[in-house]
This record gives sequence, C-alpha cells and structure tokens, in this order.
Amino acid sequence: MAEKLTNHIFLSTIMNDIKKGIQYAFQTSNNMTLAMSGSGHTAMECAVFNIVEPGESVLVAINGIWGERVAEIAERMGAKVHTLFKTPGGHFTNAEIEQALAKHKPVLFFLTHGESSAGLVHPMDGVGDICHKYNCLLLVDSVASLGAAPILMDQQNIDILYTGSQKALNAPPGTAPVSFSERACHKMFNRKTKPVSYLLDMTHLSNYWGNDGKPERIYHHTGPVSGFFALRESLAIIAEMGLENSWSHHTEIAEYLWKGLEDLGLKLFIKDKDLRLPSVTTIAIPEGYDWKELLAYIMKHHRIEFTGGLGPSVGMVLRIGLMGYNCNKANAAMVLAALEDALKQCRKSKA
Ligand code: PMP
Repeated sequence: MAEKLTNHIFLSTIMNDIKKGIQYAFQTSNNMTLAMSGSGHTAMECAVFNIVEPGESVLVAINGIWGERVAEIAERMGAKVHTLFKTPGGHFTNAEIEQALAKHKPVLFFLTHGESSAGLVHPMDGVGDICHKYNCLLLVDSVASLGAAPILMDQQNIDILYTGSQKALNAPPGTAPVSFSERACHKMFNRKTKPVSYLLDMTHLSNYWGNDGKPERIYHHTGPVSGFFALRESLAIIAEMGLENSWSHHTEIAEYLWKGLEDLGLKLFIKDKDLRLPSVTTIAIPEGYDWKELLAYIMKHHRIEFTGGLGPSVGMVLRIGLMGYNCNKANAAMVLAALEDALKQCRKSKA
C-alpha cells in the first residue's frame, strides 16, 4: 500500500510537470491545461464534445482535411454546423471570418493553424479578438505546427488549443496536450447537458489532472503512463531549446528545402512564403508525372517515405514532413537527392 501511494504521488508529479511544459509550449497561463490519453483526434473530440451542446451553432473553417473532420465530429454530436470553405492552400481573411461569425452566431469557431494536408500555416493575429467580439470561443488545431511555427495562446486570445505528441515534440504517439481558457471553462462547466463522451468529460479529466482545486485525484481511467513520461521529457527538451530557437530552426531547414526544390524546377504548392508551414512542405505535382509512381520509386530506391495529399488535397500535392528530431539539413539534402533521381527516372512522357 505504501509503495502504491508513493507511485501515485510520483505520477502526479510527472503530470504536474507536463502541465507546466504545455503551458510553456502553448505560451499560456491557463490552469485548465493537461494531456489527453490518446492522439490528436482525442483532443479534437474532447474540445468539441465539452464546449458544444446539441443544437448549438458551430462555425468550422475548412481548407483541408482537419476542418472536414471537426465539422463531422460536431455534426455527429448534434451541433448545427456552418462552414467557411476554401480549396486546399487557401486561407481566410479576418473580414471573411467576421462576416461568418456575425451571420451564424456560433458558440465555437474552429481554425487549423498548421494545415498539414495543404502545407499552410494560417495567420492568427486578430482572429481571437474577432471571435470574442461575437461572444464565440476560438478552437485551434496546432498538431502539425506546435514547435515549428509561432503560436501564442494567451496573446492571440485562443480559447482552446491542442496539439499531438508525435510531431515536432518528438514523443511517441498517444498523448495530446490541450488547454482551455477561463472563458472556455465557464462555458463547459455550466452546461445543461452532459457531454456525449464519459471518457472525454472534462469534469472528470480536470480532477484526474489535479486542475479542479479538489484535494483528491480520483481514478477516472488508466492513463498511458509510459507516454506521459515521454511527453514530459519532450516538453523539457523544447523548453531547454527555447521556442524561438525551435521555430527559427524549422524555418531555416524549410527554407533550405524550398530553395532546393525550386532549383529542381519544382513548384511549391503554397506560393506565399509567409503562409508556408515549415514542418510540412507541399509540392504541386509536376506535370508529366504520375505522383504515385514518384512516391513508389522513392520508397523503393531511396527508402524514404514521401506522401501524397490527404483528403481534399489528394492528387494535388506531394508532401514532405521535416519536424522535430528529423528536421535537419542532412535529411533535407537526402530528400532533395531522392527527388532529383525520381524526376529523372519517372518521367511519363515516355508513355
Ligand atoms: N490535426 C493536424 C493538423 C494533423 O496534422 C493531424 C495528424 N496528421 C491531426 C490533427 C490528427 O492527429 P492524430 O493523428 O495524432 O490523431
């Protein structure tokens, strides 16, 4: 029993460290900061399930697969879903967002910061303020961008922010940092109905993470303990490196890659450099090539996994992920050499 108690105290210390690490990585002082037991999708569902009640209006910005997913999640739990739409690679102006907020009066607006299916980093400045003007909470997905491109939760007035453990944070998949502002807490802890998910109910999770001010943490579910240890370490590494250094490192490697790709005669899918996501680079599929053949050739001859598009960007792009530990010049150079070879070998004009 004594041993069990010590272990329990030790785990809660790890969880408290994780909370502090996420607060730094998100640049927030929110008390309601924790890691979900599950991948990025778990945090996505947790946010929607806890904030929105059936019948309430939600606005979802769709410019790739992640908005599509959130719209479906919200629809499944009975929300009235409205969408703002752009084809992959597009982004939304603050005026477009404001117009849609005024029209639909949603309780929640969803935006993807790092749209990994399109390779776009969405501008965040002013979006939080506009949402608050219309009494709407802002939910942002930073799964693919955290640590690679600046996102400042408190300064940018983001109400709910989540990420994944396995991207620039380098931890194994299976935990997902998330944080809720005071405004978000007020909405989710004053609901008329219970959230559809017991597992993702924040009244239980806030106690499990010691965020509800109660003296005792009560068993709710068995957390992925080894994943928590790894997440704690990855958050410590990024804190030691410093967010600014992590952002500038990802930008430096991405710019090296982008120049190399352009030197090969390839066109980057996101034309405006400021809107390119440093962690996921998208290339417009070069004319005269079968994109599947290019990917297969690179896998077979260079043992590198490139991917095509995802969801609505399938058939539009090739994608290269350089983030966290694998984001370095040697890997970028290896990718460029593999592509150069594939471009020589796979030309379709012979067909
Ligand atoms: N959002 C974005 C932007 C992503 O890139 C991903 C994963 N590729 C997800 C959400 C989903 O995360 P997970 O696979 O960890 O559930």
